[in-house]
Amino acid sequence: MSFYINVILPLPLEKQFTYEVSPEEANFLKAGMRVAVPFGKSKIYTGIVAGVHENAPERYEAKPIEQILDEFPIVTAHQLKFWNWLAGYYMCAEGEVLKAALPSGFLLESETLVQLSPDQEIDEADLTDEEYLIYEALLKQSSLKIQEIMQLLDKKTVLPVINKLVSKNLVVVNQELFEQYKPKLIRYVKLNQKFDSEVEMHLLLDDLSNAPKQRDVILTWFQLQSQSKKPLQLKVLSKASGASSATIKALIEKGILSEYFLKTDRVKFDIEESNQFLTLNEWQEAAFKEININLDRGEVCLLHGVTSSGKTEIYIKLIETVLSNGGQVLYLLPEIALTSQLVQRLQAYFGEQVLVYHSKYSVNERMEIYNHVLRSSEKAKVILGARSSVFLPFQKLGLIVVDEEHESSFKQYDPAPRYNARDAAVVLANFHKAKVLLGSATPSLESYYNSTHNKYSRVSLNRRFGDVLMPEIEIVDIKEKYRKKQMTGHFSDRLLEEIKATLKEGEQVILFQNRRGYSPILECTTCGHSPQCPNCDVSLTFHNNSKQLRCHYCGYHIAMQKKCMACDSPDLTTKGFGTEQIETELKALLPEAKIGRMDLDTTRGKHGHQKIITAFEQETIDILVGTQMLTKGLDFRNVRLVGILNADNLLNFPDFRAHERSFQLMLQVAGRAGRTQKRGKVLIQTYNPHHKIIQQVSVNDYEGMYKEQLDERHNYKYPPYYKLIKLTLKSRDYSKTNDAADWVARALGNVFSENVLGPEFPPVARIRNEYYKNILIKIPPQQSLGKTKGYISKILTSFRSIGAWRSVRVIINVDPY
Ligand code: ADP
Ligand code: ZN
Ligand code: ZN
Repeated sequence: MSFYINVILPLPLEKQFTYEVSPEEANFLKAGMRVAVPFGKSKIYTGIVAGVHENAPERYEAKPIEQILDEFPIVTAHQLKFWNWLAGYYMCAEGEVLKAALPSGFLLESETLVQLSPDQEIDEADLTDEEYLIYEALLKQSSLKIQEIMQLLDKKTVLPVINKLVSKNLVVVNQELFEQYKPKLIRYVKLNQKFDSEVEMHLLLDDLSNAPKQRDVILTWFQLQSQSKKPLQLKVLSKASGASSATIKALIEKGILSEYFLKTDRVKFDIEESNQFLTLNEWQEAAFKEININLDRGEVCLLHGVTSSGKTEIYIKLIETVLSNGGQVLYLLPEIALTSQLVQRLQAYFGEQVLVYHSKYSVNERMEIYNHVLRSSEKAKVILGARSSVFLPFQKLGLIVVDEEHESSFKQYDPAPRYNARDAAVVLANFHKAKVLLGSATPSLESYYNSTHNKYSRVSLNRRFGDVLMPEIEIVDIKEKYRKKQMTGHFSDRLLEEIKATLKEGEQVILFQNRRGYSPILECTTCGHSPQCPNCDVSLTFHNNSKQLRCHYCGYHIAMQKKCMACDSPDLTTKGFGTEQIETELKALLPEAKIGRMDLDTTRGKHGHQKIITAFEQETIDILVGTQMLTKGLDFRNVRLVGILNADNLLNFPDFRAHERSFQLMLQVAGRAGRTQKRGKVLIQTYNPHHKIIQQVSVNDYEGMYKEQLDERHNYKYPPYYKLIKLTLKSRDYSKTNDAADWVARALGNVFSENVLGPEFPPVARIRNEYYKNILIKIPPQQSLGKTKGYISKILTSFRSIGAWRSVRVIINVDPY
């Protein structure tokens, strides 16, 4: 009898692949283990076993596997089920999900690039013969493809050996990821446990009486540790005791001290664990109880709590309960880089049980975290992460918190799977029988709709913590201000007055402008020409600091031009404005003030966000100018004034969610004002003071916004009533893209008639020299989603069989944002 396994390979191919295994292998293998398998002519991939069976494939002869890579499954049964659901719901291959789900170090293949770990010293004596061969080769070559290593030693042993080296952190793979985020290893020392008792300590000091330098080190050690039990850096010990590193090394060699390494970023010990018991106020307590009742009934619960109502403290209480029952918690955040404050708050509370999962971590670090979660280790009780952390191998998931659930960054654009982590979290929790809490001050229309239609439950929290009033909101009509000549640059007299008054009181200001750069467009007043990106259909954005014109889509840039590129006229003017211009104007208007800017341009480095947030927290910055980065859950104590410079370009964005999103953005940024004692103030500058959304923001009328937007969604057949699937066709050939899109739209139209919109060029129809065309399919509530997807797949299969359109790619986006 022959045995076979189905394998998921990290490739964008629809199906699983069947390989032959021996009876012993079949007996050993379990779903979720890794195997190395041959693929194509000469490639080797690592794949995940999906199942073991006795059915030979029909259309091809199954090849044998190369080898088994695990002793235990590294992918859980829940994960396999989840991947399968994601692939089905978001219409992509399981292989694409696999690729997104596992750190690439788990998926070595013949093309993987291997290098020696830059932050680890390798002790040659510790290596096996095979490890040594690879080590030696890497010393010579600095980096090698696995395929090349396979020439050096027995092909069969290469992947297991490299897997082992990777897990010991001695080599790294896919270095380009590693470069972005190199953690610093810091050397720590501790005293061997056996000297813990007083008796042993005295014996030790006696022993060392003829090595006075070493004795001093030990005495210093005790002195330092009596003050604080924090881990002690070797450097600190050396400095405090005046001993050379050779002296300390001698102690390590004697086995009196031992050294260990900690990475600076992930493990934060500087934070005092707060022992203070957190007490919820009356309103939080009531909400907490109600949430628990809903969650215990197995319902997804939406916590609608105004900004600064203390939602985080409620999450903390819930997490506490789950942890005490031995469960794991997943805390999902829209963008981890912006939430150092929250990380600190949770770490202060739960200490080392908090793990942060960061897409900027190196492959090796992500593997390490993955393993912690898989083992359900003490360090992996609370996982804080952005959307990709739904892919971790939870064993005892008890609760998922989705903070700021309305944020669009929970949705992945590219590559597939184009999932929404908030919605996927609900499904994931269901598999685990875990609880789900969604939280926001400005819930998404979809979630709020679910909570009013008995799909989710809802709990509201309408008061700010400490009974601080919601900020007072004033609308400034800038059309009138321009007419009355009460504008200086982009600042109305009212905004300037308020800024000055706030600074005078020693309080801080946040100014929100949703465009970065100096001004979006440079225009010739003679001929009207404005410089365009050669690769994309957009105007270049003018950046004054770098004196450059830049494309925000592809990164193309040229030096600022003195003359029009079309007619040579020197009369150029700028149109529109961005954060940089606001900063410049402000510096001229208020030369005394300390001004900071937070946008993509100022936060590129690893600690870019952190530096600015800390500076603002410590009040070395008085006024912070920024884009929507400012709206994401930041908690500053001393901000009294928030200014929104131009509400209109938010409202005019061509998208059916533009109004909802403007409301959310404005209310969120307004929510940064007056969070502690004094009531905050918000000024909104606009050309449309009577716009409904502006009016609704000004009185914090979520319900009003919700009802009105819902009506529009109903009238125009949009979510939450209709489901949407967007197809994007793209290629480097303009007319092929056009024709192909017409073909697909016609085929879809035959089935779905008037519920197919397009094909239509997006606002930016060419990016990096590829042309894009969109088709939108609206799916009425009574129409089966499964059947609809079935039709779409069929149409796309015929489409792909047409040779002329081989170069046209189709991107499927279910529930597009
Ligand atoms: P939200 O997440 O709803 O915007 P936060 O959880 O950030 O609100 O709370 C706002 C502020 O109030 C924070 O500075 C927080 O530390 C404080 N706070 C909230 N609840 C409590 C509590 N029960 N005890 C002490 N401080 C609290
Ligand atoms: Zn010109
Ligand atoms: Zn471009």
